[in-house]
Amino acid sequence: MPIIRYEGKDYDCPSDEILLDSLAQQGVKLPSSCKSGACQTCLTRAISGTPPAAAQKGLKSTLAAQGYFLACQCKPESDMEIGLATISQKFSTRLIDKMALNESVIRLRLSKPDNFDYHAGQFINLIRPSDELTRSYSLASLPSDDALELHIKRVPKGAMSGWLFDHVETGEELAFYGPSGDCFYLPEDPEQPLLLVGAGTGLAPLYGIIQDALQQEHRAPIHLFHGSLAKEGLYLIQTLRELDNQYAQFHYTPCVLHGDSPPGGMQGNIGDLPVQALGSLSGYRVFLCGDPAIVRTLRQNIFMAGASMQAIHSDPFEFAAS
Ligand SMILES: Cc1cc2nc3c(=O)[nH]c(=O)nc-3n(C[C@H](O)[C@H](O)[C@H](O)COP(=O)(O)OP(=O)(O)OC[C@H]3O[C@@H](n4cnc5c(N)ncnc54)[C@H](O)[C@@H]3O)c2cc1C
Repeated sequence: MPIIRYEGKDYDCPSDEILLDSLAQQGVKLPSSCKSGACQTCLTRAISGTPPAAAQKGLKSTLAAQGYFLACQCKPESDMEIGLATISQKFSTRLIDKMALNESVIRLRLSKPDNFDYHAGQFINLIRPSDELTRSYSLASLPSDDALELHIKRVPKGAMSGWLFDHVETGEELAFYGPSGDCFYLPEDPEQPLLLVGAGTGLAPLYGIIQDALQQEHRAPIHLFHGSLAKEGLYLIQTLRELDNQYAQFHYTPCVLHGDSPPGGMQGNIGDLPVQALGSLSGYRVFLCGDPAIVRTLRQNIFMAGASMQAIHSDPFEFAAS
């Protein structure tokens, strides 16, 4: 049976069990959230030994080469010494502002720790101090902003979102791991058209990415499609309209599945609307965030419309395992 060394102690971890679970059964609680390989909260590093290939699937080659792997996807095949990933550090923060963006979405502003560097559109793994409950939330702010901005949707019976809506108060001390994710803007090609699509709080990372691209003087068209079931579920409409008026290259399309869309918007399935509106997407750089089923549909449709898979960046908001 493989022996896993962690913080100077040895643990027997069977090859047919997930490392995260077998360590938890032995009293070692590594950070984790979605347990499906999406959020990367459980990113761990093999200091010695070789992690199984399946536990490195989907990681950037630069991370895999350094021995990083996902503990929630790891069935150990041989002895390893492991440590927490240094790229996902724990930071302390404080809630400085909480505001409703619509009936089911709030904006939180958190103090930005001095040594916290990130790209707009990446996400953090927010920790509830009382029990270490951890959930991923995307950063809608720019690194140059004084505060970190999150958009949180209320999920019925949601442990973290319910707590953030109903109990957290301004001034409260919180913590997070991060930053994580590679859904962000790089100024590689300012002439490449951008397409950003998200439903609900899928707007959070997209809002950060748009501000970043505009600040870095992206010149080609930047199309944002923000979807919701109905008009009431949209938010930041006025702010996005103002950006649309201010920047000739930015185009905002609010989309609703049911009922009338706001002026200038579209009605229909958000999975289909961007392709309907733009036609060929060959040459586009694409960012898709939010509901995992919508992200899957969009990936497929946008690929079929000509975008290359390598140019499609996505952050599906997978639910955390209970
Ligand atoms: C990379 C990433 C980025 C994310 N960014 C954001 C963000 O910016 N804003 C944001 O609001 N959320 C975001 N999420 C989702 C977030 O991490 C939580 O999953 C969400 O807030 C629900 O957590 P909870 O503790 O309130 O609900 P839980 O207690 O985890 O869930 C309660 C119940 O609701 C179900 N459920 C959970 N989520 C949903 C949902 N969305 N729709 C329907 N049923 C659900 C669960 O399966 C469970 O049965 C992100 C997730 C990932 C992986």
